Amino acid sequence: MKDDTGNSNFIYDFIDEDIAADRYQGRPIYTRFPPEPNGYLHIGHAKAICLNFTTAKKYGGKCNLRFDDTNPIKEDTEYVESIENDVRWLGFEWNELRFASDYFARMYECAAELIRRGKAYVDDQSADEIKRTRGTLTEPGKDSPHRNRSAEGSLLLFDEMKRGLYADGEKVLRAKIDMSAPNINLRDPVIYRISHSEHHNTGGEWCVYPMYDFAHPIEDAIECVTHSLCTMEFEDHRPLYDWVLESLEWELPPRQIEFARLNLTNTVMSKRYLKALVDDGSVSGWDDPRMPTIAGLRRRGYTPEAIRAFCEGIGVAKANSVVDIGYLEHCVREDLKAKVESRNVVFDPVKVVITNWGDGAELAAADGDSAGSDGGSVGGADGSAPLLENAEMENNRETPELGTRTVPFGRELWIDGADFIENPPKKYFRLYPGNEVRFKGAYFITCDAVVKDADGRVTELHCTYDPATHSGSGFEGRKVKGTIHWVEASTAVEITVREYGYLMTEGEDGESVRNPDSVREMKCYAEPSVADARAGERFQFFRHGYYVADAELTDSAHGGAKVFNQIVGLKSSWK
Ligand code: ATP
Ligand code: MG
Repeated sequence: MKDDTGNSNFIYDFIDEDIAADRYQGRPIYTRFPPEPNGYLHIGHAKAICLNFTTAKKYGGKCNLRFDDTNPIKEDTEYVESIENDVRWLGFEWNELRFASDYFARMYECAAELIRRGKAYVDDQSADEIKRTRGTLTEPGKDSPHRNRSAEGSLLLFDEMKRGLYADGEKVLRAKIDMSAPNINLRDPVIYRISHSEHHNTGGEWCVYPMYDFAHPIEDAIECVTHSLCTMEFEDHRPLYDWVLESLEWELPPRQIEFARLNLTNTVMSKRYLKALVDDGSVSGWDDPRMPTIAGLRRRGYTPEAIRAFCEGIGVAKANSVVDIGYLEHCVREDLKAKVESRNVVFDPVKVVITNWGDGAELAAADGDSAGSDGGSVGGADGSAPLLENAEMENNRETPELGTRTVPFGRELWIDGADFIENPPKKYFRLYPGNEVRFKGAYFITCDAVVKDADGRVTELHCTYDPATHSGSGFEGRKVKGTIHWVEASTAVEITVREYGYLMTEGEDGESVRNPDSVREMKCYAEPSVADARAGERFQFFRHGYYVADAELTDSAHGGAKVFNQIVGLKSSWK
């Protein structure tokens, strides 16, 4: 059985058993991912995708992508395209791309065959009557007055249903199994219904459509699937799955194996609910960065590697459980940590003016210790133009191969609002009047004076720097406790940063409710290279977290500023 690391799982155990018993007579292990194209895929589907594709791969087998498109009303080619795109983006390539609707003729034939074998009949009862006579867990159902209709009679009616002679709901085809079966799914379930509607694939060709429980085993069997992996809610349907294939005397029928759905805290995963959010404008679309869809996670900056690591990490079990969304966040943080470059971005900016900058001392310092090959100064020393000096910064502390970059430093800088407090509490080591801190990659800086406007708001911090403390000069003198980052003001790039809360939050009685406050937008200043970010490019904003340049890149509402989505913060609360 499965252990916590996910190294073994019960699905592999079943497959091993089948291989040992040669149940499939040497045929390859074959799985399929069978989405209904009635919405975009979500993180729960990612679990099913990973499971199906990696199981096939483990056994040297095959996996199909099959659209389970037997319900014409809700399906759409937009969804078909997004699903193909998402599966590929996750890093999987299917053996064959199939549509259940391509098998409609074959399924119709199978249904007619069941009638001929006395295992199905056309019922004239309404959906309500059928439901009413199904019985309960404690009482058997009642036979339909048409249950003993002759095969000839049913075949004729079934043909008329197909030819469009009846309205929706006027007649159905039912499997003839057992009206007193303890499992209600076996009490003569409906297997075909009439629906006069356009189908995204077959158009107006059909007006009878197979029900899921009848269609699915046939789809699997046609494709030579050996193991049909599905979620637990189908466990009670397995006897019907087996009945269909047995009744058709299908050789080497596939075996259905159920596993627990993925549930995540602060997340709703029903396509129906997600579609409602899209339709009522609560989110900007299926790919809104707050959505738990693959498209939303992609736009949010998640990587396929992180999602696959998550799916592997949660393992596979039969018992339902709820996974902490912190674990998903942990996985993307772990993936990005050593991969992405760092950039300096200042939030809630406060202006710092270095009052002794430009008096010539910094030139002496820069000349004297030549601050790296890229070091040096640009700009005029006469005070008319900003005088800039290049600081060298590593792109990723864990991955030296990602190299370094130069960042301009000068007289006027922005620092984070959180890095200055006028009257600091104890143990605050960042900037406050009279305190000295290290400006990362540059100098030691002391705050001398706080300049305020008429309303008492801080407008500038007047500071002085010590030229002898140039970074990289081997300064071994006094220590400072705080290191803060900064962005040079004259070259700063204004960006829009969006940070996200969860779409769902816990309501008063512990149930899940909509979070009214799920997006926050901020103006920030970034070092100049951030202006070149490509759509989808990810960074660590130093000391803040991981961010991605939004696919739409600029925000017209903000004067064309680049928009960055927060992927995840730096710190994890997940244990
Ligand atoms: P939803 O209930 O979210 O609308 P669904 O089950 O109707 O999803 P399908 O398109 O039928 O969506 O699902 C395709 C496959 O993905 C099925 O095999 C289904 O069992 C699996 N799947 C769907 N949701 C989850 C989930 N939360 N965890 C694991 N597998 C899932
Ligand atoms: Mg479904």
